[in-house]
Amino acid sequence: MFEMSEELQEFRETVRRMAEEVLLPRALDLDNRGEFPRDLLPSLASLGIIGTTADRNVGGSAMGYVAGLVAAEEISRVYPSLAFFLEGTQAPVHALEHYGNDIQRNRYLAPIIRGKQIVCLAATEPTGGSDVANLNTEALREGDTFRVRGRKVYITNGGIADLCLLLVRTGNRASMLAVEKKTPGFRIGQRESQTGFRSVPISELLFEDCRVPAANLIAREGDGHAIALSSFIVSRPTIGAIGLGIAEGAFEIALRFARERVLYGKPISRLQHIQFMLAEMETEIEKARWVVYYPGAALDRGVPPRRVGKWAARAKAVGAETALLVTQKAMQILGGQGVNPQSHLPRLLNDALELFPASGTVEVMKIIQATEILRRARS
Ligand SMILES: Cc1cc2nc3c(=O)[nH]c(=O)nc-3n(C[C@H](O)[C@H](O)[C@H](O)COP(=O)(O)OP(=O)(O)OC[C@H]3O[C@@H](n4cnc5c(N)ncnc54)[C@H](O)[C@@H]3O)c2cc1C
Repeated sequence: MFEMSEELQEFRETVRRMAEEVLLPRALDLDNRGEFPRDLLPSLASLGIIGTTADRNVGGSAMGYVAGLVAAEEISRVYPSLAFFLEGTQAPVHALEHYGNDIQRNRYLAPIIRGKQIVCLAATEPTGGSDVANLNTEALREGDTFRVRGRKVYITNGGIADLCLLLVRTGNRASMLAVEKKTPGFRIGQRESQTGFRSVPISELLFEDCRVPAANLIAREGDGHAIALSSFIVSRPTIGAIGLGIAEGAFEIALRFARERVLYGKPISRLQHIQFMLAEMETEIEKARWVVYYPGAALDRGVPPRRVGKWAARAKAVGAETALLVTQKAMQILGGQGVNPQSHLPRLLNDALELFPASGTVEVMKIIQATEILRRARS
């Protein structure tokens, strides 16, 4: 077991209790209806879950990155959609906190962290998410505004966000703008059809001659890619933690079933093949735990995000792969009952599949990892 401080263990217990008592009874229904539970945000905020890394002066709990991973893992055991909402919030909160000026931080961070407003970070365009440098959403400076034209796709929280941190092209450089929902010319497009995370609207966002005050530029013109990269790095371990939680949720369902299902006069947990599967699933989960928490612990020690990129990429990839492997084995253990679409397990499998492209594909994560391995081998 990954050792945690007493404070973090207590936090884990608190989140687990909330997840089982409040989230579990509603999760399946919310996902089936594709409805986001905005009413839950104040209770998440009161537990400090929305802003675990944010300063107390903006309403954050300042518990750190590992605390955010604990929350994502525990929530994902029963309701991964809500943890995915938190991941979609974490990247823009990081951008505002570390690159925003005092006015932007005061105006935007506190309502987000208190659960009163929702934020998203929009980088991906139809011309290809992996090719982030190929930006077509353009912002032209006109006096004290930017005129923005373009289209973003697959944006987590996009359909419910009050604020969008938008990656744009300004001349031949990338910049980040804070665009409020009420800004004329900003429109939510179609909601993407989703395999998993069905409570969280992942949406297209449209900008049609949208006039954004120049004061809403985050940091300086040309800093957009650095801000986006740093924000993705800190939020990728959360995708890993969601994968870990999904795998644990599936494992618990399979274990319970194996002990209750009687065949040939005895529980199937006595069959050696089932025991091997349970052992393999538990091994994958424990392996993933170390990989997922490693970058969070480094960030909490003060290692800057740019030096955590490889570990964050590995955490994301391993979390996604573990979630898929374990949910699939769990479904096999449940036999015919495993494929009932009205039950939790197929929902966990569908959520696991969405982890592969989100926040950079698993393949791109391996490229990041390999590039760093080769760079170190040369130096
Ligand atoms: C659930 C979900 C939530 C998301 N949330 C957000 C969000 O909040 N904000 C946001 O901006 N974006 C978001 N995205 C978009 C996500 O970041 C992109 O889907 C991802 O970066 C991949 O881009 P793409 O889908 O265009 O695939 P493509 O880039 O077209 O990739 C297609 C295939 O090519 C492979 N590939 C690409 N480049 C290479 C390479 N160099 N070498 C080998 N193989 C390669 C990929 O691995 C993939 O298999 C989300 C996506 C999903 C599914």
